[in-house]
Amino acid sequence: MKDPNQPDKDALIFNIQRFCLHDGPGIRTTLFFKGCPLHCAWCQNPESIDPKPEMAFIAERCRGCFQCADACEADAIIRSEEKRIDHSRCTACGRCAEVCPSGGLTLVGRRWTVDTLVAEVLKDRDFFVDSGGGITLSGGEPMLQGRFLEVFLPAVKEHGIHVNLETCGCYQWEQIEPLLPFLDLIYFDLKHMDPTTHRHHTGVDNGRILDNFARLTRGAGTLVPRMPIVPGINDTEANVADTARFLLHHGHDTIHGLPYHGLGADKLRWINSPLRPLNLTSMDAEACRPVGRMFAKRGINAVIYD
Ligand code: SF4
Ligand code: SF4
Repeated sequence: MKDPNQPDKDALIFNIQRFCLHDGPGIRTTLFFKGCPLHCAWCQNPESIDPKPEMAFIAERCRGCFQCADACEADAIIRSEEKRIDHSRCTACGRCAEVCPSGGLTLVGRRWTVDTLVAEVLKDRDFFVDSGGGITLSGGEPMLQGRFLEVFLPAVKEHGIHVNLETCGCYQWEQIEPLLPFLDLIYFDLKHMDPTTHRHHTGVDNGRILDNFARLTRGAGTLVPRMPIVPGINDTEANVADTARFLLHHGHDTIHGLPYHGLGADKLRWINSPLRPLNLTSMDAEACRPVGRMFAKRGINAVIYD
């Protein structure tokens, strides 16, 4: 059993993506931490939400050989075309994925110790130096594994690596406060300004999130507000006006906009997710221009990503 007074020795990470250009300055290596206190209906990484390892099944890749069934000691393999895993039995041991010849099964989430993760990110140090880049903590919500970050961040900062935190903002202030000296940049998501609508689409209201935003603005180095732009949900005149008012009140005149895309909807079929696809049309920078104009009218520069 974990001692709550001790930092965590390892972290659960479901992806490490190299050569990222949108997660902060320069070339970056982005670490995707597993587990999130929100479950946004539009989540582009729904495999990040569950804070435990889980098996994903991609039916299109399956050859129907059923080597997975022979490997599974938990009797958790289902012989149907659409489903392969009985999640009520699966222990996420990963044996089926090891024998699957086609990549139809993947274990989502692997544990990394501080030493192995530092060694992994140092492989890209030359790119960081040449481009002014670094690492980005993403997810999921990295702050759910803050007790690991308390040890990991001082270790990477010893190597002079720039650190950006991408966050949904939903945690207790006491969790992020000790980490602030090790964070060079924070990308902070504002998803919706109305507490009831925010709860409806993400599972939690936005009180703590807005409070943390205000405190970080006062106390942290560089905070960049971001907003996933989801058609019909938060791209309305009313929500943009409320967001702009909130930003100006806290001394911000810029927001980064991330156009909604539907890639996360495919992933919902691969895992045992309670989320249902939104069936919305994916957006791009052009489709988000009206949102940019609404912000501009209110004195906010919206930087919309491609
Ligand atoms: S081992 Fe892989 S390819 Fe074979 S049945 Fe299982 S999921 Fe499909
Ligand atoms: S992860 Fe382990 S328990 Fe789960 S289906 Fe695969 S072999 Fe069985």
